[in-house]
Amino acid sequence: TSDLAAVDPAIAAAIGHELKREQTQIELIASENIVSRAVLEAQGSVFTNKYAEGYPGKRYYQGCAPSDEVETLAIDRAKQLFGCGYANVQPHSGAQANGAVMLALVKPGETIMGMSLDAGGHLTHGARAAMSGKWFDAVQYGVTSDTHLIDYDQVEALARERQPKLIIAGGSAYPRQIDFARFRAIADAVGAYFMVDMAHFAGIVAAGLHPTPFGHAHVVTTTTHKTLRGPRGGMVMTDDEGIAKKINSAVFPGLQGGPLMHVVAAKAVAFGEALQPGYKSYIAAVVENAKVLAATLKERGSNIVSGGTDTHLALVDLTPLGVTGRDADEALERAGITCNKNGIPNDPLPPVKTSGIRVGTPAGTTRGFGTAEFREIGNMVADVLDGLAKNGEAGDAQVEANVRERVAALCARFPIYQ
Ligand code: PLP
Repeated sequence: TSDLAAVDPAIAAAIGHELKREQTQIELIASENIVSRAVLEAQGSVFTNKYAEGYPGKRYYQGCAPSDEVETLAIDRAKQLFGCGYANVQPHSGAQANGAVMLALVKPGETIMGMSLDAGGHLTHGARAAMSGKWFDAVQYGVTSDTHLIDYDQVEALARERQPKLIIAGGSAYPRQIDFARFRAIADAVGAYFMVDMAHFAGIVAAGLHPTPFGHAHVVTTTTHKTLRGPRGGMVMTDDEGIAKKINSAVFPGLQGGPLMHVVAAKAVAFGEALQPGYKSYIAAVVENAKVLAATLKERGSNIVSGGTDTHLALVDLTPLGVTGRDADEALERAGITCNKNGIPNDPLPPVKTSGIRVGTPAGTTRGFGTAEFREIGNMVADVLDGLAKNGEAGDAQVEANVRERVAALCARFPIYQ
C-alpha cells in the first residue's frame, strides 16, 4: 500500500489497472517499451519539485547544484552513447525536440522537407495538421510503390525544385535503414540543413547495430522512450558548436520554460543502462525478434511493407486478408495483444480505418521474449486476423478467447514489475 492509495484512491486504482494491463497484455506498439525500476524511481523523485531554467552552471534560480549534477551526467552519457559532440537533454518530448530544431534553423514561411505521414513519416516533419505543416512551406516525399523504400530520386528532384532550408529523414513507421549519405549529398546540393529524427531507431544506433546519422546529419533528434528504453522525453544532438548554441537557445528560452529535472534524471539513468554491455544483446534480440515476427505474419498470409524489416518494427499490410487496421487492432486488444492500426503506402482507406497495423518488438523483448515466443505471438496475431477474415469485424470470439489464454500463459512466464 502506498500513500497514494490513501490520498487519491481513484488515481491509485487507475495506476493499478495500468500495471495489471502491462503485466498481462503483450505489447506490440513499436514506440513503447518497459522501463527499469531505476528509471521509474528517478522519474518519481523529488526532482519533480525543482525549477532549473537554464543549463548546468548557468541557471536562473538558486539551489540548482543537484540539478547540474544530473543534467551533466545525462549530457555526458548521451554524448558517449552516440559519439557526438553536443547534447541537449531538456526537450519535454520528441515533438518539442523537432520544434526546437525548426526554431533554431528555419523561419516560418521557409521551406522544409520531410517524409509524408502516409509513407511512414511523423506529424512534426511537415504534416498539414501539425505546426510544422502550418507554419512552414512543407514539402513531403514518399516511398516507391514497388519497393516501399524512400524514393531518393524523388527526394532529390523535390529538393532541387523547392530548395528547402531543412531536410528531415526519419519516421514512425519506416522499417528500413535510411541512406544518410545520400540525404546529406542532396542537402549539400541545395544548401539545406540535414536533420535526422532517429526517435524510433535511436536504441539500435546506440547499440551499434544500425548506421549512425552522425557524420552525415547537421543535427539529430530523438525521443528517449522507444528503443532507448528511457522516460518519455526528447533530445537534440549535434557535432557542430554553432548549431549546438542555437539549439540551446531554441529549447530554452525559445520553446520551453523549466526543464523537467525528474525526467532528465531518468534519462540519465536510461543512458547509463544503454551503455552497459547487456543493452547491446537486448537490441540484437529486438532486431532478430522483429524479423521473426514479420516472417511469421508473412507466412500466415499478410504482406509485409518493404518485404521485411531492418529494425524493431514491421508494417503489416492486411489487404490480402481483406481485414482493416481498425478491426485488427480492436480484435487484437480483445485477445490481449496491443498494437496500432497504421496506414500503408498509398493506403486507399482513411487514417481512422487503414489497411495495416504496425508491430514492434522493443517491449516484448525487454520482458524476455525470444524468437520462439515471437513466432508464437505472430501465430496468435494471425489466428485473430483469420477470425476477422472469416467473420468480419466481430471476429471469432472463440479464437480470441483461446488467444487470450495463450497470452496470459506467456505473460505469466515472463513477468514484469513483480
Ligand atoms: N519523431 C518520431 C519519428 C516519432 O515517431 C515520434 C513519436 O512517435 C515523435 C517524433 C514525437 O515524439 P513525442 O510523442 O515524444 O512528442
